[in-house]
Formats: sequence, structure tokens, C-alpha cells
Amino acid sequence: MQAAGGIARPQVRRKLGVEDYVNGILAGDRAILARAITLVESNSPAHADVAQGVVTALLPHAGNSIRVGITGVPGVGKSTFIEAFGFHLCEKGHKVAVLAVDPSSSVTGGSILGDKTRMERLSRHPGAFIRPSPAAGNLGGVTRKSRETMVLCEAFGFDTVVVETVGVGQSETAVRAMVDFFLVLLLAGAGDELQGMKKGIIELADGLAINKADGQNRLAAEAAKLEYTRALHYLGPASKGWRAEVVTCSAIEGHGIPEIWDMIGRFREQMTRTGAFADRRQKQRANWMVEMIEQHLYDSFYSNAAVREALPEVRAAILEGRLTTSAGARDLLRRFYETSRLEDLIAGL
Ligand code: GDP
Repeated sequence: MQAAGGIARPQVRRKLGVEDYVNGILAGDRAILARAITLVESNSPAHADVAQGVVTALLPHAGNSIRVGITGVPGVGKSTFIEAFGFHLCEKGHKVAVLAVDPSSSVTGGSILGDKTRMERLSRHPGAFIRPSPAAGNLGGVTRKSRETMVLCEAFGFDTVVVETVGVGQSETAVRAMVDFFLVLLLAGAGDELQGMKKGIIELADGLAINKADGQNRLAAEAAKLEYTRALHYLGPASKGWRAEVVTCSAIEGHGIPEIWDMIGRFREQMTRTGAFADRRQKQRANWMVEMIEQHLYDSFYSNAAVREALPEVRAAILEGRLTTSAGARDLLRRFYETSRLEDLIAGL
């Protein structure tokens, strides 16, 4: 905006209320969507009421998407894959939101998914929306924010929500708990394929995609496909009534990508027919509440000033045998309850 005399005046951002956010999102205003997500991601108790108001008002408009979780170790090709996959869908007329769950940022100060500009080509597509992982917080905090962001994106009209995470354990279980279809990206020739942690992750999968099946790697990828298909026979299904499938793909060359989308379509169709799709969504919602309560109690307890002050001494007393473990626990819990006020306890929930 230009003031008289041609001097540009800085634009003041008007503070928005619940209704402004809700109307803006339902009207398809991307700037408002981005601001609403920032609000949901905020850790400030001052924003919590408006954020919850927005999420609650939009809940009836959410849920009409297929939620796809994607995981794999760093370097497997997640961002290259999601870019190709998202682009393929957008070209077919779908609207795709890409979210990320990367709790590592709070632990190491850096992120595993990477701060580099990712999926640049997809981000320029008018049908796509890419949001990096919320910057701070423990896993519980990050997943809560991602779940609420998912509600906003669905209400906005995205019909496919991709949630990306890193291949390092806990965050995969958390993402599995918020999506319909869980895709694990793998590489051929890693040798110890089904050992240790990888087995745990494969057990969560509805689909396995062996990426980088191009050039000289093609044959090895086909061999890995057979090996995984055989191994899957010994594992229980991750989703009731669906047998996980193994495919090969090349995120760089683009082959295998349409087949993966077809697989997700068959999954959705089959799971919807048996009622398992809606059933899982319902269970996820109920579990979400339990998780929120647990997380909140945990955070409240360990951030309580009286608990923090007494904890080192109580721990030392237990270590030295001056106090029993249960007496120590009781002592800390008493301090917590005595100093907690209801308003503080539910603030920010
Ligand atoms: P991320 O860490 O899992 O997100 O992996 P990136 O998408 O950043 O990819 C890691 C590296 O693998 C990059 O150099 C990509 O160019 C490369 N890459 C990804 N997908 C493919 C593929 O299908 N074939 C080949 N040959 N390279 C790939």
C-alpha cells in the first residue's frame, strides 16, 4: 500500500479471530491456512484457545482425504520420492499436502529430514502444499501439531495428506498411528534386511517400495523384492484384511510411482468395503485422546517448579538407599498435586 507522497507504509498484520481462520480456510485462502498452522504449532498458551477453537470448528470438515505415511532411512530417497509421487497426483488433479514429523530437531538442534529446501518443484505446483516439521518439541508435541495441521489441511480441501518421517524408531510408530496407509521405502542390497529395527518397521507397513530400482541397481532391487515378499509371509498384517505388497520404484526416473498410487487405491477400496478403514480412524481418534492426556501429564509433572527443585535430592536419596523408590515417587507426586492449579494444568491443552 502506498501512502500519500509515495512512501511505502509497512503493512500491519491484523490479528485474526477463530471465525476469520475458519472462513479463510474453508474459502481456500492459502495465506490464512499457513497462519493457522503457525498458530497450531505455537507453544504459547496465549494462542492455545484460538488454535483449539479453529481445530474444533474445522473438525466436521476434515477427514475426507487419504492419509499416507512415508518413512525410510536418510538417503533412501524420501524427498525425491514424495516430490515425484506428489507431482504425479497433482497432475491427475489431486490436491496434496505434505507434512513432516521430525522430533530430532528438539534433541540435536538439527533435523534429520534436513533443513535444505526440499521438494522445490512440487512446492511450486498449485495443487501442492508443503509444510516442514514443527521446529521444537518432543515427539508427543510434534505429532499433536501434525495431527491438528492435518485437520486444517483436510478442511481446506486437500484430498491426499502425506506425512513423512525419519527411519529411526519411535516417530514411525507415531506416524503409523495417524495415517491410513503406511509406506516404507527401502534400498536393495542392505544385507541384514530383516534384522533388528527394520523388522519392527516392516511390521507396520502396508506397502514396501524398494527405491532406486534404476541403472545397475535394477536387478538387485528385483531380488530384494522377492526376498521381502517371502519374508512378509511370516509377519502378521499391519492392517486387518490387507496383505502388504512389495514394489520396486525409481523416484528419479518416475517408474513404479503410478503403481504405488494404484496400490493405495486398492487398499482404500478394500478397507472401506470391510469397514476396517473407518474402524481404524475411529480407534486412532480415541488413542489420540489418551496420548494427549499422557503427554500433558508428563509435561506438567516434569515442568512443575516444586518437582524440579526436589527431584535431584529425591533421586540421590533413592540411590543412596535412604529412601525407598515408592516413597520417593509419592513425595514428588505430592509436591506436584499440592502446587498445581487447575488453570495451569489444562493450559495449552
Ligand atoms: P532422503 O534423505 O530420504 O529424503 O533422500 P533424498 O530424496 O534426499 O535422496 C538421497 C539421494 O538419493 C539423492 O542424491 C537423490 O538424488 C538420490 N535418489 C533418490 N531417489 C533415487 C532413485 O530413484 N534413483 C537413484 N539412482 N537415486 C535416487
